[in-house]
Amino acid sequence: MPSDQDGVMIILSSPSGAGKTTLVKMLSELDNFEISISHTTRQPRHNEAPNKDYFFVDEKEFNRFIKNEEFLEYAKVFSNFYGTTRTPVINKLNNGKNVLFDIDWQGADQIKNKNLDYKLISFFILPPSKEILFERLSNRDMKDKLIAEERMKQFERDVLHWINYDYVVINDSIESCYSKIKNLIYAEINNGSKDYDVNYIRKHVEILTS
Ligand code: 5GP
Repeated sequence: MPSDQDGVMIILSSPSGAGKTTLVKMLSELDNFEISISHTTRQPRHNEAPNKDYFFVDEKEFNRFIKNEEFLEYAKVFSNFYGTTRTPVINKLNNGKNVLFDIDWQGADQIKNKNLDYKLISFFILPPSKEILFERLSNRDMKDKLIAEERMKQFERDVLHWINYDYVVINDSIESCYSKIKNLIYAEINNGSKDYDVNYIRKHVEILTS
């Protein structure tokens, strides 16, 4: 049975290239925080370690997880499947660990709609500007400018989901973005005061989508 000693669920989502994966890794260094490792049908990137960054599986195995209802959530993102298995997450939470999820808005919606008895805090990370986002995406996918362009188009659609998150944080510098998220998490856990201005975020989204 869930109790006060349970960990909290912390979701970080963002349009591709906003720096969320780095932030999740930094937050996982905090005492008592652990990352939920997803399953994916995507091929590993050269810098990714199996069973650490992702559990890499084929579609057949992924479908088996779906059929056995082992996923807390799953979604198709950029033509690959991604999913979070339920048991490791619940075990961590029951052991008092705070669990970090690096998942997209579809997964965030699914977890929210489950109304689990664990506290949930959701963050949406935004880039400071469209120009900086394009620069980051182009650097990442040097070999394929088309991917950067395709992800910019996706950005326009993804950004609209900001409204469904508890907090939206702008990643203008990784250190200050990390501090803001960390402070908001601790304020939520300890019922402290939160330094957050939703109107400022609303204006930023207007600029990003104009
Ligand atoms: P990437 O392929 O760049 O690692 O991830 C692509 C997108 O899939 C990112 O937005 C990432 O947050 C999302 N993602 C990674 N794991 C999961 C998951 O288990 N579930 C869902 N819904 N999205 C995920």
